Amino acid sequence: MPELSQKIFHANSDFEFSSVACDCEVDVTHPSKGVTKYTFRLYPKSDIIYYAYIAGRGLVSKNKDGAFDGRAVLPDLLAIKDGDAKAVEAFIEQHGFFLPLDANEDNAIDAESLFCLIDRLKAMVALMSALGEPKTRYKQILALTLYLLLSPTVTIQLPNFESPFLTCIHDVWQVWNGVYPINENILRSEDVGYNVDEGYRVVDSVRPPETWLTTNEYSDAVGYESIDLSGVKASATYLFRNAVTAQPPCRLAVDFLYHFCKEVGDIKAWNHKGDLTFVSAPPTAAQFRDTFDEQLQSALITLAKNTLKTEIEYNLNGVVPSYDTETMAPSWRVEYLLAGLYFSVFYMRPKIELYRICANPNCRLPFLVKTTSSKQKYCQPACANAMAQRNHRRKMKALQATNEPDPIS
Ligand SMILES: [Zn+2]
Repeated sequence: MPELSQKIFHANSDFEFSSVACDCEVDVTHPSKGVTKYTFRLYPKSDIIYYAYIAGRGLVSKNKDGAFDGRAVLPDLLAIKDGDAKAVEAFIEQHGFFLPLDANEDNAIDAESLFCLIDRLKAMVALMSALGEPKTRYKQILALTLYLLLSPTVTIQLPNFESPFLTCIHDVWQVWNGVYPINENILRSEDVGYNVDEGYRVVDSVRPPETWLTTNEYSDAVGYESIDLSGVKASATYLFRNAVTAQPPCRLAVDFLYHFCKEVGDIKAWNHKGDLTFVSAPPTAAQFRDTFDEQLQSALITLAKNTLKTEIEYNLNGVVPSYDTETMAPSWRVEYLLAGLYFSVFYMRPKIELYRICANPNCRLPFLVKTTSSKQKYCQPACANAMAQRNHRRKMKALQATNEPDPIS
């Protein structure tokens, strides 16, 4: 590694690493009529890309021919529009690939897996930022948490991997998907707590110490004849009664979702952008205020923080502490870009800085901002000016409209 490039970063960075640059091509195939399949083909080059994490700027990358200043990696990634294969290609050519590549192999990855990998990163950054914002948007936090907890695992197999790379698997996902089957016969025994009049006694971490779940409520949600766990409410109610041996963080998720679906509204869907939809009409602002009480609020924040912790720690597998013989100080060995990206988020202090989306609807680019500056809504002065002009034009129009004679009178 050339001495110079290292020194550029070394002065003010928290960690540094490098990896090979690569060319990228998108293959488009049509496996059947009307179906389009994208595959990314990656060709590692001999050029090296250098990365450094600099407080206030985040993770920056700089290749041999690049400008003196490194270019921020995470905002470039967050700016990729959903499913935009061209933008992913441009990102990889600029910043390198997320995982280690072997130059002698045919490196190909299907677009769906790569998009999911990027969406997870986006959701994680959005969740961290949402938790740091002065104004707490609970529905957004819930949607992002559910996305990270319950999305199917993405498996990526490249030729040089001994075993495939897997995205983080949360305990809740395993319980939710029946990976740990529950022995209902044991649970029917007396000591779990059953009473003909009141139903099942459930030790409750959200509304402690316990909640009685009536047999009717249970059957209504889970099904009378056979078990139907196709909805969030059904699964949450089933697990609320039956997942008695689940670990406390997993149990918190189950208890929270049971109460949320019952008291606030049954959840239909969520996504990595933080949108949450309900099975029936969503609760009004007033209903939400009344039903989403302090116990639920605090449970959700704890659940979101636990999820973030698991997600980040899992992805720090590619970061190894190492001793720097030159400076005789602790340092880190970061093995690939994805680990470096998660490490850069790990280093972010959401109480100090976070990513916000530009409020100019024509821009919507993410930018790093001090958490205390609740007023900074735009990524750059040009966006603020554009919006000011737009608002001014709107005002003038409204003024004109009120000054015009009323056609009826
Ligand atoms: Zn902007």
